[in-house]
Amino acid sequence: MARIGFIGLGNMGLPMAGNLVKAGYEVIGYDLVADHVERAKQRGVVAGGSPAEAASGMHAVITMLPAGKDTIAVYSDGVLSAAQRGTLFIDCSTIDVASARAAHELAGKAGMASLDAPVSGGVAGAEAATLTFMVGGERAVFDGAEPLLKAMGKRIVHCGGAGAGQAAKICNNLILGVSMIAVSEAFVLAEKLGLSAQALFDVASNSSGRCWALDTYCPVPGLVAAAPSNRGYKGGFASALMLKDLALALQAAQAAGADTPLAARAAELYRRHADAGYAKEDFSGIIKLIRGSNAV
Ligand code: NAD
Repeated sequence: MARIGFIGLGNMGLPMAGNLVKAGYEVIGYDLVADHVERAKQRGVVAGGSPAEAASGMHAVITMLPAGKDTIAVYSDGVLSAAQRGTLFIDCSTIDVASARAAHELAGKAGMASLDAPVSGGVAGAEAATLTFMVGGERAVFDGAEPLLKAMGKRIVHCGGAGAGQAAKICNNLILGVSMIAVSEAFVLAEKLGLSAQALFDVASNSSGRCWALDTYCPVPGLVAAAPSNRGYKGGFASALMLKDLALALQAAQAAGADTPLAARAAELYRRHADAGYAKEDFSGIIKLIRGSNAV
């Protein structure tokens, strides 16, 4: 049975590690927070006493951590030296492209194979093993990792070389963050023009305004049954995470010399929304800021 080390057993890592156990892998997990390790044990994960213990003797080591500095710290802090040469390192965290490339370099220098493989689909997708993985790294390494990733996700996409998975993730979320604001503005304008939300939805969801923010995650309640707007914007994809991803996009754009004025404005608006107490609510709640008088 393949042995997998799993470091970072938070909201996403816990169910992902649990799905690996369900698929028949032996999973040795580690997290800084003891309680998170305890919850993982209830899903069949074996507790590793240290990051090195979760890397030693493994076929693959998966990390699911908050930020680039955490991935680099974990890779540098005894994990790479504890693993056997040729171990596959997969970082599923959403991190900046520069740190992702640095992580590949560290792994490569230590004689390891590596992939950056951020996900979309949120906690619900992690629980249901329906995540989309956006993967960067060598094709042959990707091919070898696909069965493992399929135990946690539905769509596994090879996006290119080192860092390409992170690039795909932040570019996708740039589109999502900006389009949710555009959809919100359109509904607020429609209200002011006396046009019903239903009429705008019926037209736009069948014409050129159609997009995921409108037809799957509509910010106005009562139009799309599964949208977080129907549950008071609870659950879903937190505004704080959208803000994080837009900040990563802006950082990458600055480094690459790309002009992203709408992403910059969108980040400003999500920051204000998060600071107003909505950081944990779904990002479609941004319509409240757009509707309010403090949106300019
Ligand atoms: P989380 O904060 O719930 O989990 C992160 C875990 O990492 C925590 O349990 C923390 O204790 C642990 N950790 C931090 N530093 C560590 C270290 N040095 N060693 C061991 N453990 C350490 O976050 P999450 O919601 O699970 O998100 C994880 C990643 O996935 C983030 O990069 C996030 O942007 C991304 N992501 C999250 C979602 C979502 O909906 N939550 C969706 C897509 C992508």
